[in-house]
Amino acid sequence: NTAQVHANLVTNSKESNQLRKQLEELRKEALVDDLTELGNRKAFNSLLQDLTIYHRYKPEPMCLIMTDIDDFKDFNHTYGHQVGDSILRFYAKILATNTDNNAKVWRYGGEEFAILLRNSSLDEAKQKAEELRETLESTKLTLKDSAAPIKTMTASFGVAFYHGDDDSIHTFIDRADSSLLQAKKLEKNRVVQEMGE
Ligand code: GH3
Ligand code: MG
Ligand code: MG
Repeated sequence: NTAQVHANLVTNSKESNQLRKQLEELRKEALVDDLTELGNRKAFNSLLQDLTIYHRYKPEPMCLIMTDIDDFKDFNHTYGHQVGDSILRFYAKILATNTDNNAKVWRYGGEEFAILLRNSSLDEAKQKAEELRETLESTKLTLKDSAAPIKTMTASFGVAFYHGDDDSIHTFIDRADSSLLQAKKLEKNRVVQEMGE
């Protein structure tokens, strides 16, 4: 009967609305890193893809900073994984609170983070990375329970500039990554920017 059919349709549409909402939430969750609550690598790739397309229509100087905690293994070893996790959350907070609206931060993976700076020259980005490096180096960490001091935490940084149309997401990330690698090969706890140009 008609009333029954109508009732079924209403229920179905309610259910499909609920499903749609759940799907939307799952989609959002898939882009967030549980531990740090920063965007994850998937979110990073997706935004970078969008920005490089947008860049063709409205070019703007933009830079990428890749940063990786130095000797993070040792923190896990010495203080345990729980403390290691807290250190990752702490570093995420340092990066997020010490960057402005022109910057966005993601957890790229493990103890590596990516920062995209819009409207920024290579020099400005390098200076920002240097600031972050110094902030971290001068922060005294203590254990939550005992308030005992723990080893100073440092990080290394690689900085790259987006070259526009002859660039790609891959080569952009690669230049930041190889600069980071260079920083690690030198003494760590330093900033290296991409070569030339
Ligand atoms: P380097 O200075 O060369 O970067 O050395 P490193 O020890 O920081 O780097 P390495 O890649 O050798 O080790 C990274 C470690 O980070 C290994 C892995 O177990 C740990 N790690 C990755 N993700 C997590 C996490 O979510 N929580 C914790 N506690 N540890 C993690
Ligand atoms: Mg590391
Ligand atoms: Mg690493």
